[in-house]
Amino acid sequence: MHALPATDRLLESWLQCERRAWLETHRSALATPVGGLEPYLEEQRSDLRRLYLERLRAAHGALDVVSGTERDGREVVAGALRSGATCVVGATFETTFQASSGALRLRAGVDGLRSGTRGWRLEALAAGGRVRPHHVRRLAFAHYVAAAAVLSTERAAVVHVTRETAQPRPGLVASDVTAAVTSARSRLPTRLEAAAASLRAGTEPRTRVGPHCRSPRGCPFRTHCWSGNRSYSIFQVPMLRTSTRRALRSAGWLDVRRLPPEVPGLSPEERQALEDARETRSRVDTASVRRHLDRLEPPVAFLDMEFATPAVPWIPRMAAFEPLPFQFSVHLEGADGELVQRAYLHRDAPLDPRPPLTAALLRALHGTGSIVVYDAAGERLLLRALASAVPERAAELEAAQARIWDLLSLIRGSVRHPGFGSGWGLKRVAATLAPDAYRGVALADGLAAQAAWRRLLRTRDPHLARVLLAYCAADSRAMVAIVRVLRQWVAGSRAAEMPASP
Ligand code: SF4
Repeated sequence: MHALPATDRLLESWLQCERRAWLETHRSALATPVGGLEPYLEEQRSDLRRLYLERLRAAHGALDVVSGTERDGREVVAGALRSGATCVVGATFETTFQASSGALRLRAGVDGLRSGTRGWRLEALAAGGRVRPHHVRRLAFAHYVAAAAVLSTERAAVVHVTRETAQPRPGLVASDVTAAVTSARSRLPTRLEAAAASLRAGTEPRTRVGPHCRSPRGCPFRTHCWSGNRSYSIFQVPMLRTSTRRALRSAGWLDVRRLPPEVPGLSPEERQALEDARETRSRVDTASVRRHLDRLEPPVAFLDMEFATPAVPWIPRMAAFEPLPFQFSVHLEGADGELVQRAYLHRDAPLDPRPPLTAALLRALHGTGSIVVYDAAGERLLLRALASAVPERAAELEAAQARIWDLLSLIRGSVRHPGFGSGWGLKRVAATLAPDAYRGVALADGLAAQAAWRRLLRTRDPHLARVLLAYCAADSRAMVAIVRVLRQWVAGSRAAEMPASP
């Protein structure tokens, strides 16, 4: 019987859901992309790897650091020992785990190895800026595989950036996690035995869908597993606590349409959310919508901004993960209803995008009129970030904040539709109220846009620039379309045309 390949990522998938791990092994073609999280994290990781290598070379000298990404770890370590180097960056180890159901071919990547008095210290880079349980599990897996590949390891650490303002570059800290890794490693053989048995099963496990489909990582097999219960699942209802979802699932109540009229132990918000989800008709509080719309002052600027949160900022005095706006789209609607679009996309790495973006934004926003955004808190945060980076324009940016009109709070408070499903995100609301808004848009979300922008800075690929401009323009255009639908409703002309409930 041939050995099945298994990596730390596959084991993470198996810990999340054995069905996911089985599908990744046997039916990977059924996977569909899950937003932009993975490309975003990969960009953060590669920045972090560069900084890590740079710091090691600065601290130990270039000759003391061997870079061995993707090469066989044993070879890389043997080479390091021969040359007297004490640091290895990037190495991959392999070994075979012989389970009773058959063999697993284990493959583990190690970000860093530092030579100590009694062995090597394994280091994992954390893109998110802090130690998380999966870093410990990953190190435990690497520890197990590297030890089996005849490498003595004595300690383990997670390396991450400090969140303080960088002077001039962010700092790196190593958090020792040896005790946690040793404990996780002791459980590994039992887990590998169980994983081998379920991965070798001839049929797909029948694991039921649940909160694990989103956490800790969005599962790429949701289209496959959720087909047939998408619209009315309790897991699609916003505002429910995880404990409530679990309790409903344990009671066998997966479909909100089959819930009894009174479910005990719910908060008022949860009761309302379930009531909304059971609602098969659309409802609009026309008076409230009218009140909001009456407050709009022309010319109305529909604004969307995209921002990055680099773990390793390249701009002096920026802290790790500080929001860095790099793009906006404004659709300006005059009193006569005519639309003019203005956009800015920063392409000049390594220059700071904030000063030119601020200048272009203030021109595009016009001096008066309402500024429609989707989620006022988020856009205010970005305007404040611009004001602190460009203090000479702070007064104008503050004046712009005072003109903000929040479409999200209007929708949330006054419009109910079963099509909104699990939330109030702009794309979800637009898919119901203005279905053409995102037609032909290639990026899934803001994280995908961040990753695409970082690639654009590196490659200057004009196709990526077009993709980003189209993505941001679709967001501001979607707001225009939604507001126009709302105006038609309050005018009475579209009441009968509200999208049908699913
Ligand atoms: S969608 Fe849910 S049930 Fe299906 S494989 Fe993924 S985590 Fe498991």
